Amino acid sequence: MRIVLAGMMWCLAACVAFANTAEVPVMAEQKEGVVDAQGDTQGLQAWLAAFRVRAAAAGISDAVMDSALTGLAYDADVIRRDRNQAEFTKTIWDYLDTAVSDDRVSNGMAALRKQAATLQKIEDTYGVDKEVVTAIWGLESAYGTFRGSVRTVQSLATLAYDGRRSAFFEGELLAALKILQAGDTVAANLQGSWAGAMGHTQFMPSSFLAYAVDFDGDGKRNIWGDDPTDALASTAAYLAGYGWTKGAPWGLEITLPAGFDYDQTSERVKKPVANWQAMGVRGADGADLPDHGPASVLLPGGARGASFLIFSNFQVIERYNTADAYVIAVGHLADLLKGGARIKSGWPRELRALTLDERLDLQTRLTAAGFDTLGVDGKMGPNTIAAVKGFQKARGIVPDGYPSLDVLNRLE
Ligand code: CA
Repeated sequence: MRIVLAGMMWCLAACVAFANTAEVPVMAEQKEGVVDAQGDTQGLQAWLAAFRVRAAAAGISDAVMDSALTGLAYDADVIRRDRNQAEFTKTIWDYLDTAVSDDRVSNGMAALRKQAATLQKIEDTYGVDKEVVTAIWGLESAYGTFRGSVRTVQSLATLAYDGRRSAFFEGELLAALKILQAGDTVAANLQGSWAGAMGHTQFMPSSFLAYAVDFDGDGKRNIWGDDPTDALASTAAYLAGYGWTKGAPWGLEITLPAGFDYDQTSERVKKPVANWQAMGVRGADGADLPDHGPASVLLPGGARGASFLIFSNFQVIERYNTADAYVIAVGHLADLLKGGARIKSGWPRELRALTLDERLDLQTRLTAAGFDTLGVDGKMGPNTIAAVKGFQKARGIVPDGYPSLDVLNRLE
């Protein structure tokens, strides 16, 4: 999901509904071999034998199971990626440089033109702005260019057998078999990225079952083939299902007044736009704020980076990937495809992202200092941000919640 680098998918995207709660999209990298693939294939086969009983009880036919599960091997590469995906994190500015590059914008313009009629029909049917659908397509597969060629059932079976998130991946494997049983495609075409996300917009199998649509009317929901019609419509159906408001922004860049109370910056603090306006918040160009319902102020790069006012559509995009950087990339790319302006503010580019060890250390030290992160998992989510803010306030530093090296160094 999330982004293609050097010939590999780095969770570019999102894995629709994939349980990735990392604060910033992460890059999977390979490390030294950690498994004995030969021995684990025997273990996988034993696991599959037991799984077949459970799948049969769930109504999957022997014929479908034979077509999909025969000859599966333990995929050590998938496990390496799963183990290491939290290790490398990008700063939001590095992420946006790639995710919303000039090439991705111009390719998106071309994709919008090429699929103009289809996208308009999809927008009219589902009430989801065509530029947003296109932006997700651009981030998930570079507009269909990198859809993934990993055998989905093999990835999911390996991850389910592996055990780290066994229940989740067994559910996805069962969903993949249900897709085959429904006749939407055949096992050989059921391909995608390493963690089970499939097709132009990287749907997980369970999301496919819940939201995929046959928009071109050929009787099959086909998100894997060269024609993106069904995948784009399915993405719109997914966003509509989570409450997309057509024509409303995901958010917009803002300026904060001198003396602004940074304790008010959090996705957890929602206020009517009139309140933010009264506090002196304005658009990046100084304009009054548009009212699209309750809104939050977000500082994804800390007090020295760009600030955004975010609306309910932000939370809808989060259903694709909860990382702030991903949501902002989708929203910003969509805005650029509509002819909007680039983010005006700079970023504190001299700061580097914390390593996994440093993030774990930060959480451990914050909790020990009385600012509970409610767990030590290396993910810089809302609880950790709240803890950082608490620490910053106690030390008299600007409480922007940004987990910087400076904060870590101040914690003993
Ligand atoms: Ca179709």
